[in-house]
Parts: sequence; C-alpha cells; structure tokens
Amino acid sequence: MALDAGLAPRLREAVAARREELIELTCALVRERSLLGEEEGAQRLVEDRLRRLGFTVERVPIELPAEDDGTWGYPPLESYAGRTCVAGRVAGAGPGRSLHLSGHVDVVPVEAPETWRHDPWAGEVADGRVWGRGAGDMKAGLAAYLVGAAAYLEVCGVPHGDLLFSSVIEEECTGNGMKAVLAAGYDADATLIGEPSELRLMHAGAGVIWARLRARSAGAHVAFGDGTSSSQRMLAALGALGEMERRLNLLGEDAEARTRAGADAVFLLAHDRPFRLNAGTFAGGAWPSSEPATVEVRLRVGFGPSLTPTEAQQLVAETVRGTTPEVEVSFEGFRAVAYCDDLDHDLALTVSAAHAALHGGAPARQVLAATTDARSVAGPCICYGPTSGAIHATDEWVDIDSIEDVAATVALTIDGWQRAEAMPRAGLEPAPPD
Ligand SMILES: [Zn+2]
Repeated sequence: MALDAGLAPRLREAVAARREELIELTCALVRERSLLGEEEGAQRLVEDRLRRLGFTVERVPIELPAEDDGTWGYPPLESYAGRTCVAGRVAGAGPGRSLHLSGHVDVVPVEAPETWRHDPWAGEVADGRVWGRGAGDMKAGLAAYLVGAAAYLEVCGVPHGDLLFSSVIEEECTGNGMKAVLAAGYDADATLIGEPSELRLMHAGAGVIWARLRARSAGAHVAFGDGTSSSQRMLAALGALGEMERRLNLLGEDAEARTRAGADAVFLLAHDRPFRLNAGTFAGGAWPSSEPATVEVRLRVGFGPSLTPTEAQQLVAETVRGTTPEVEVSFEGFRAVAYCDDLDHDLALTVSAAHAALHGGAPARQVLAATTDARSVAGPCICYGPTSGAIHATDEWVDIDSIEDVAATVALTIDGWQRAEAMPRAGLEPAPPD
C-alpha cells in the first residue's frame, strides 16, 4: 500500500498547530549548553517530552564492548559516569515494521563567542531562523522528530510497528552513544536521523579518525638550536599529511589512486575534496624567540570506503614516521567507517513519497564529506533534516519553516513505514544530487 494521501494534509495541520511548540523546543534545546560532558540538561528535556508523548523511556549508559571491533570511538575523551543516552519506545499494536527516530544532543565548542551576532547559547529567534550553537546540528532535527512523532500519535494513534526514539551523546567525537543505544536493543527495521540535510536524503558519509601529533624538544634560543626544532618538525609532519590528503582525493591519477577511487567513487564524484584533513587545535610554545618544548596538534582525517579506520590510522602513522619520526602520533575518539546506504530500499522510497506528498517533488540526495551516526546502523538508515547554516561555525542557524517541513515528513513517514506492506517503487526515486 502506498502512503495514505488523505493523511498528508491532516498531519501537516497537526504539525502546523504545533509550530510555536516546535520553535520553543528548538530554542530550549539550544539554551542547554550540551558540550562534551555537559549533555544532561538537554537529555532531561528530551526525556520529559518523550514521557509526555507516551513513550516508555530508559537511560542507556555507554559501555565499551569487551571485544574491540575497531569502530567504537577509542580511547574515549570523557568519563561516561553520569552521562547517558535517552531511549524510548511506543510498542506497536502490530503487525508492522518498526521505525527508529534518532538524533544527537551534543554540540561542538564555541571558539570566539564575542564574534557572534546572536548569543550562541540564547536560542534567539530572528529572520525566520533559530540562532545558536547546535541550532542546526542538530537540535532542530531532534525537535522536528519529537513534534513529528507527537503529530503522528495525535492523528493516527498507536502505530502497527514499534516506534523508537533515541537522543544520543558523543555523535561529534566518538559515535559511542548511538552504538550503545543500538546494543541496548533499539535497532529497528529502519532508522531516520535528523541531521541537517536541507530536506535531502543524506545517505553516505566519509570515514573519520582523530589523531594527536606531539613534537618535543629541550627548547633552545632559536639562534643556538640545531635547526630541527619541535615546531619545524610539526610543520614538516603537517606538510606530509597534506600531501597524503591530496593523494586520498585523487580520482585515478595513478594505478593506486585508480584502485582506491573505485571504492571511493561515490564520494569523489560528489565532492572535489571529500576526504579532508583538518588541524583543529594547535598548542605549544611560550616565547617567539624560544623553540617550544612541546608542540601539539589535534587532527581530523577523512577517508573513503577503500580504507578501514585502522588502515587510515596506519596511513597517518606511516606518513608522519616517514617524514619526521620524532613526531609522536596517537589516536583518540572517532574510528568511523565510511558508509553508503542504498537509496533503493523501502525507507528511502517512503521518505521520498512522504516528502513529495507534502512538499512537491522527490527530495535530492546528499553525500556527506563527514560522518554521522548512520554508519553504526545495520539496517536501512537515512539522515533527513532541516536547512541550516554555519554549523560548527560562528552564528549557526536553522530555518524555522524547514523544521516544520521535516516534522510533517517524519509524521507521514511513520505512517507509511509501519504498514507491513512494501512500498511501490514507481515514481518515487529520489532526485539526483543538487
Ligand atoms: Zn550532527
């Protein structure tokens, strides 16, 4: 059975009636400074909302598995004591397919708050947007999914299949929150994540690892050093890694690149430079005329499906060792595999049909040059969320109309997906990338 066409306007109205609630929830979530280790306030908001919607809710702690499969973020960056994911379930009246709606509450730091036009933690509303750290990435997505679920439950009652909801932590550094939620039994027949995708079907994400480079020396007056200071060694290591990045992004210039490009083609064809090296933090030194005793740089390295996270770590370590063996390399946080979900499965078709019924036309698809928690989901999984800008940057924002549009699509998707029958395929293919 296809989507229930008569339901689309009713669900859209139910979401529209909750527009103020949707904006207030987004703002309230932004006002919770859910930086690494400080996620609890935001989690309480989500938990409270789920309970009021009739979800059975539990807290899921993060416990690393005894056996290392090479994909959990390791070593962790922060103790897991007192930090949990929120997971909820509305048991389906059956029979029907289960659906998991998910998002993350953690946000990245604000580096220069004085440069923001809107206070990053105030959740201000202006110009049709909510402003603030995490507004787009991805508190609006969480709010849209909560309100979409509320509208669905109000209009349609209990679904046939189980409806699951999770609000995870550490999407921005390890992905261990989502992994814990899945391990706790919150895997479903399909999963939707509300990452900001401009209402596109975001179905692929690059691999990501984090590394820490450290160069040490006894220090010296620059005039009397031996010419190989810790800072010069660090610059040499970064230069070599820059060349490594260039080669990772080649589309078949030599035999090795051609071989790799085959596996990585979906990314290399979608972006000029999908696999990016970023030196995200620099530290060290005390005086311009003194060689630093320690220089430390923390890196993020992107890569494609041709490498596992372990192989990407080896590549980074070998690249540094081959140029500047004095520079120490260690790894932490992300060990994220590159992933590419099929767009020919019922979930993508259901979201496409719901999007088309509500907003006209099939949604475009998106390949992300970064990672999401979708990589950890075994079954069909798509990221579908609102339109945002300046994520991880100054004056982050999310477009309010797009949050409402996402909520309506999610409500209609819950209905379409939980029906046991497969979707018809004709006419629902997603549009090409835009
Ligand atoms: Zn995100």
